[in-house]
Formats: sequence, C-alpha cells, structure tokens
Amino acid sequence: MMISKQNIISSDIKAFLFDMDGVLFDSMPKHAEAWVHSFLSLGLDFNEYEAYMREGMTGASTINEIFNSQLFRSATIEECEQIYAEKAAYFESLGPSYPIPNVDKVLQLIQQNNKDIFLVTGSGQKSLLNKLEHSFPSVFQKDKMVTAYDVKKGKPDPEPYLMALQKGGLSAEQAIVIENAPLGVKSAVAAGIFTIAVNTGILKDEELLQAGANCLYHDMMELHDDLLLFFLHS
Ligand code: MG
Repeated sequence: MMISKQNIISSDIKAFLFDMDGVLFDSMPKHAEAWVHSFLSLGLDFNEYEAYMREGMTGASTINEIFNSQLFRSATIEECEQIYAEKAAYFESLGPSYPIPNVDKVLQLIQQNNKDIFLVTGSGQKSLLNKLEHSFPSVFQKDKMVTAYDVKKGKPDPEPYLMALQKGGLSAEQAIVIENAPLGVKSAVAAGIFTIAVNTGILKDEELLQAGANCLYHDMMELHDDLLLFFLHS
C-alpha cells in the first residue's frame, strides 16, 4: 500500500509523530521477554505475542489486565510498582537496544523537508529516553516529546497523540503518525491522525490493519522510499 495524496486528507503536513519502541529502537523483543519473565515469576501465564499485542499500554494497565483475567482482582498500587520496577530492571539486564535499521534515514528525510518531529511514547524506560540524543543527534527536542511521565491514560486512548498535537499547535490533518503496535495505531486513529504502521515485530499484519492503520510497511527503507516520492509530489 502506498502513501498517496489521495489517502492523506490534507497535504498540508507539518509534523511527523514517532512512537519509540519498535519504531526508533529494536527494544520490543526485550520488553516482551521481560514481561513474560515477570509474570511467569508470579505464576501467571503470559507469552510474547500477548506482550506485543499490549505494547503501548501503561505498565499498570498491562499488570491489571493479567491480574484481573487470572487472579480475578486488580493489582494493588504497591504490586504494580514492584512488578513494573522488576520488569524494567530485567529489561535493562538484557543489554542495550539499538536503532531500528534505516529509521535514521527516515528521520533525516523528514528533517530535510522541514517537517517537525515529535516523540509520542507510553514508555518510561529512562535508558532509552536518555539515549535518544546519542542515537539520533538533534532530532528530538524536550518540548516535542510526550512520554509515560506526561500521560494519565496512555495508548490506546487518544490522549498521548492529542497532547502532541496540542504541544505543536497542530490539527490532526497536519500530522502523520509512525507506529508499530496495534494499540498505538488505535490511539493515533482515535486522535484523527493519518497513521502509518511499520510492522517491525512478530505480529500478523492484520493486527495492525484491523487496528485502523491507513497503510503498512515492513521495514523503514520501504517507508523511506515512499516518503521520498510523497515529498517530491507534495
Ligand atoms: Mg511501539
């Protein structure tokens, strides 16, 4: 599926809103492994596909979903904090994450075309947030970021993407979202924004398309080449 003027309602695009895990960094396999490890250590059943399906949710929402479905109660605030802290520590023990191949080329192309770039993530993983400037020099600015520390509801609620639009003084028609996760796609679509899915993980394409993605790519180079044409013709 190609990006085209026809499927972008307005060609007055001013900004691109990037998710972080699975879009900027190849961190999703480690997040999934860390969630599986945390739940299994509590005797709770969980697998990696389920972790990918919940990507973008707040840690507390993920923990409460599993508690409610298997223990028939919510987790206490203390339990949430402890499990999330253990999950985050286990994630760190799995080693560093690296940029998704060729996403740097996508970011450069967008900058060359004088569009703003925002970060919109449900993550509060400090090691990755701190690594943004090192991995992508002069791309992400503090006033153009929405993270776990800003949001109350998190994805799939439109809140994080609406916050980014507000920060940028943008209308939904002036933005394009790049996402890799079904709940992230739902959040962006609910905010009324044209949403490009890049399936960098283990999920079936249908999961992203059913979530409402306007188009889908399988790697960043494929997206880069289409964006190049989009900029040439807009
Ligand atoms: Mg993601």
